[in-house]
Amino acid sequence: MLRGKYPLQLCLARGFICEICNADEVIFPWQMRVVTRCAKCGICYHSACLARMQDTCKKCLRIQKRRESIDSTSNVG
Ligand SMILES: [Zn+2]
Ligand SMILES: [Zn+2]
Repeated sequence: MLRGKYPLQLCLARGFICEICNADEVIFPWQMRVVTRCAKCGICYHSACLARMQDTCKKCLRIQKRRESIDSTSNVG
């Protein structure tokens, strides 16, 4: 059922919502003046928002925390 062309959706699929300010506007990696992309997980934030968070990526933090919790539970067995 490949019915073709949804250019708008394709564009949106590459966009991100800034998780820090949760603004409705979609941001894109190529908006380099206002958007910063996390080198580790590839998610995008407003540069200003990320700076406010001392460059702490929320997603990386989440992944890290989950990894820690998996480690601790596997230790318990
Ligand atoms: Zn933001
Ligand atoms: Zn990240």
